[in-house]
Amino acid sequence: MNEAVNNSKKTLKINILKNCLKIKQLILFVFLIFFLLTLCLTIKFYLTPFKPIAKTSLAIFKGAAHVHSLYSHDATQTINNISQDAYQAGLQFIILNDHNTRMESPRYEHQVLVIPQAELSTQAGHILYLDPNNTEPLRDETRHLHSNFKYSLTDQILSIAAHPYSRYTPFDTDYLNMTHGYEVLSSSSDFYNILYSWRLLFFLGYYGNSPFALTALYSKRDRSVDAYQQVLNQRPYLLFCGTDDHGFIQHPARLKTYEIYLPTFIPEKTALTDSQQVIKILKEGQYFCALGLLGDASALSISLHHENLILPLGTRAKIPSTLHVHWNNKDIPKGYKVVVYHQGQVFFTSHDSHIKQVLNEIGNYRVEISIEIPDLLFGTRELTFIYTNPFYLEPEIL
Ligand SMILES: [Zn+2]
Ligand SMILES: [Zn+2]
Repeated sequence: MNEAVNNSKKTLKINILKNCLKIKQLILFVFLIFFLLTLCLTIKFYLTPFKPIAKTSLAIFKGAAHVHSLYSHDATQTINNISQDAYQAGLQFIILNDHNTRMESPRYEHQVLVIPQAELSTQAGHILYLDPNNTEPLRDETRHLHSNFKYSLTDQILSIAAHPYSRYTPFDTDYLNMTHGYEVLSSSSDFYNILYSWRLLFFLGYYGNSPFALTALYSKRDRSVDAYQQVLNQRPYLLFCGTDDHGFIQHPARLKTYEIYLPTFIPEKTALTDSQQVIKILKEGQYFCALGLLGDASALSISLHHENLILPLGTRAKIPSTLHVHWNNKDIPKGYKVVVYHQGQVFFTSHDSHIKQVLNEIGNYRVEISIEIPDLLFGTRELTFIYTNPFYLEPEIL
């Protein structure tokens, strides 16, 4: 009798063991499928990069802002490495925004203009602090700026609310209106938002720097623009883009996630003068931001024409003015679409590579250009490729 019980116990044990083995195998199988799927997707997006857009002879100067060097406690790259990677990424300038300090002088390194500035931690949030009049090192002086929000708002400097929609260091919206602008795109914050949302595929995609991962950022960008649209409509306000780069893997590609294009700048090759010039142009809003991983936007020119004047972006003009958007290249990107906003509302859209649109209404306008990129598995998705700053049309004085 006992033997029979023992035997049935044994069989039960064996059955349990067998079932455990089956469950283990099943888990392993599911994991393997998931891994293979992830691998396939990653390979797919590695092998289908976005077709880069040919360069033109336009005098375009492009770079990345909000880069952290070893002077930041949470970064890994020397300025030498950063400028080398920036050169490799096709950038001509980088703006260093180390935490609460500006330890170096402007200079050219690896043919890249290095512009040391600072990122201040204030009670409102992090602020990119760019001073065109004072680009020399500030050591102890900048430390006392720490947490002094008001200091960073003087008219002389350019203050940008950094990563306003970051999960961990959001910028207080009550203070937002007091800055000159905010980062509509901030790659590191996007990266962490994705990482902690446990969307593994997006995470892997981001590491692969594929356009696929950028589709994940799109929805976040949308929310951030909606949240601050009110501020945008109230007064001249800048849309800035920062890589918030801390020097982790895929570095040259990460540096060009968000690029700043300065269409009006011709370098004099004197680091100090050039640095001051770059910050002045940024302060005037005469730049546009592009998602550099999607392609090169050097072929684009956007300007405003009033009477016989050609005015740059971020400007004030009288009605009627004419907006010119020209893609100076026969290879326009797939799904190219120009959207012009007036007071935050879509004013008109066009797929033309040459646009001349008369603007008769007063108020603020800005231009977004979207393109199509491969979506998850099949199909395509529209993604904003270029953001410009608002320009303002005022009534004609009689
Ligand atoms: Zn920050
Ligand atoms: Zn930062």
